[in-house]
Amino acid sequence: MSLLRQPLLLLARSGRVKDLVSTLPVSAGIVRSYVPGEDTEDAVRATADLVDEHLRVTLDYLGEDTLDSDQADNTVQAYLDLLGALSASGLTRHAEVSVKLSAVGQAIPQQGHKIALENARTICRAARNAGTTVTLDMEDHTTTDATLVTLRELRKDFPETGAVLQAYLHRTEADCRALAYEGSRVRLCKGAYDEPAEFAFQSRLDVDKSYVRCLKVLLAGQGYPMIATHDPRMVRIASSLASRNGRAAGSYEFQMLYGIRPEEQRRLAAAGESVRVYVPYGTEWYGYLMRRLAERPRNLTFFVRSLISKS
Ligand SMILES: Cc1cc2nc3c(=O)[nH]c(=O)nc-3n(C[C@H](O)[C@H](O)[C@H](O)COP(=O)(O)OP(=O)(O)OC[C@H]3O[C@@H](n4cnc5c(N)ncnc54)[C@H](O)[C@@H]3O)c2cc1C
Repeated sequence: MSLLRQPLLLLARSGRVKDLVSTLPVSAGIVRSYVPGEDTEDAVRATADLVDEHLRVTLDYLGEDTLDSDQADNTVQAYLDLLGALSASGLTRHAEVSVKLSAVGQAIPQQGHKIALENARTICRAARNAGTTVTLDMEDHTTTDATLVTLRELRKDFPETGAVLQAYLHRTEADCRALAYEGSRVRLCKGAYDEPAEFAFQSRLDVDKSYVRCLKVLLAGQGYPMIATHDPRMVRIASSLASRNGRAAGSYEFQMLYGIRPEEQRRLAAAGESVRVYVPYGTEWYGYLMRRLAERPRNLTFFVRSLISKS
């Protein structure tokens, strides 16, 4: 993996650097290439544009690691506003939402689990009423168990709730087996956080091998795999495993991030695949942007240019 990955992921959690970088307007080139805007209107507009191009969407109201229950409530309200606006625009057949439990209170001491569960339940209910679904994003490994417990609780009332599993974790192949049951929506990604060797594969090759093992489990299983990667090799392997398992298009989907390999998103959709684009929006784009830079350090040049041109 790149030498810059770990320092960039450490910076993703640095409050001081965040304060400096967050003064960049969202319109600054590098931010804008990954985040279409700050408010509900921007999110709905970006969704409509993607849907016009035969893509589906999952929307993330940016924010994470909140320790403040008012802020968690604001995040819930933002999702409710978004779901209302998507429904009013007739977009909920094609657009769902992705939620980070740490943005709705998971990290609040003592009560975090309970607060996040109730908040997620409120969002799931609103999504159900609007005719769409929620997927729970997965964060660093210290939250995996708690997030899967919350998922199990939510699925009792909202079985359509999607899970995310990260191939870089040693445990994930087993988690895939446990979640590959009928009706279970599972997004498989490589994983975006800085994780210790005790819990996660460290080399790109080992992560990729794990991703393929997990794909085999999910595509042979009874659930609905959501294959989240921009890696051309993983896309090719997933397509061939899908046909080997007799899966028709529409019984699984590809997912990619807004602004990353957009031409490949359109190519797959034109070839008849279901493709969903993950669209983050809001003012709290700092941690998200730093994880994207860690995946692609060559974008740092553009980022530094944005900072210099601002000052
Ligand atoms: C829909 C979706 C949802 C996700 N949800 C989560 C989640 O809940 N939890 C989590 O930990 N991670 C999540 N991720 C991030 C994921 O874990 C990876 O960090 C990220 O997708 C990069 O891995 P990759 O599979 O694309 O492969 P890589 O090997 O990293 O990249 C393959 C190719 O993709 C392109 N590419 C990758 N990243 C970038 C970039 N930032 N800018 C430009 N080009 C790039 C390059 O061409 C690169 O060669 C999600 C990813 C997607 C697509």
